[in-house]
Amino acid sequence: MNIVKKLLEKDNYNLQELTTLLKTEGEERRLLYARAAEIKAQHVGRKVYYRGLVEFSNVCGKNCHYCGIRRNNRNLTRYNLGDREILDAVKFAYDNRYASVVLQSGEIESPGFTDRIEKLLMGIKKTSNNELGITISLGEQTDDVYRRWFSAGAHRYLLRIETSSRKLYRKIHPDDGRHDFDRRLECLRSLKDLGYQTGTGIMVGLPFQTIEDIAADIIFMRDFDIDMVGLGPYIEHRDTPLYQYRDQLIPPEERFHLAMKVIALLRIIMKDINIAAATAMQAIDPLGREKALMAGANVIMPNITPGKYRDSYKLYENKPCTDEEAEDCTSCLEARIHMAGDEIGYGEWGDSKHYPRRRGNDEPVSGQR
Ligand code: SAH
Ligand code: SF4
Repeated sequence: MNIVKKLLEKDNYNLQELTTLLKTEGEERRLLYARAAEIKAQHVGRKVYYRGLVEFSNVCGKNCHYCGIRRNNRNLTRYNLGDREILDAVKFAYDNRYASVVLQSGEIESPGFTDRIEKLLMGIKKTSNNELGITISLGEQTDDVYRRWFSAGAHRYLLRIETSSRKLYRKIHPDDGRHDFDRRLECLRSLKDLGYQTGTGIMVGLPFQTIEDIAADIIFMRDFDIDMVGLGPYIEHRDTPLYQYRDQLIPPEERFHLAMKVIALLRIIMKDINIAAATAMQAIDPLGREKALMAGANVIMPNITPGKYRDSYKLYENKPCTDEEAEDCTSCLEARIHMAGDEIGYGEWGDSKHYPRRRGNDEPVSGQR
């Protein structure tokens, strides 16, 4: 107990200290969460920002070994929302004062896709009188594509590193020249250089992953000086190659707490970044996202994808709220967030406070409604 208490008085850690903190249980673990909550209140406040999440297509050119919508899975219906449907979902976010949206899909690299997204981004800005903030999460693309989407109005990008261990990255992706750790790193660098608020993250509890790997992931995110994090537990999916290792996984509850501990440690170390309480947290624990808010997270991405498509965007099993419509989520979520003791920053972009600071400029880069 004493060692952990002493560590919690510090705000930066080496690999070994992180490993110790990642192994905490019971009262020590509670203290870790409480410390993160305190730092959150001090540095970013007790406000939660919404990003309306539109999972607009499950068509994917990639074959990640963990993901339910990987190209080789024939066991699902592929869909691709029309522009009208996407803009309607975005309008729902705007009308409900979410202030930001996230566009996410499988990864497609093609001139047609680039053009379509560029037009959509401009459409979203137009639909919302330039008021909605836009995050995109569309995988690895060239510098030029990232630049075009930035110019068209996206200002945040989420691209998870998944794991900072080159060796583990290799094991969870096919070795076909299209799933390359160095390319992922290059993409992250390019996003940062272009001026995006850059978000990354990992899956916690992957097969073959050690506690030391996760400690190294935290150091990676610190040293890469990211602005935002989205992370959650790995959840097995039966139609994927990694499913064969399901017996080797740590139990879901432990995976959940491990993800909570990573969130808490990132909050303690990085202080002013934005941290999303990922939907995968809720897949394990019905109150998972609210618990994450109490351990340092400050962003929630309510799913605003039209209900009829939700069942087909199953990256993992047990995905919550796949039978709901966006309206159902709003009031349910609001009550849950108040229960966690936070308030919702309606109408505010809630940009990462870390971004202007890391760029050596304390002027906010974006406005409020
Ligand atoms: N195609 C884009 C965005 C969609 S996937 C991309 O890959 O970046 C978004 C995230 O879902 C991935 O980064 C991955 O971390 C997560 N994911 C995929 N399969 C998962 C699983 N089985 N369990 C938990 N998270 C998963
Ligand atoms: Fe495609 Fe993303 Fe899933 Fe990989 S994680 S298969 S890129 S949707």
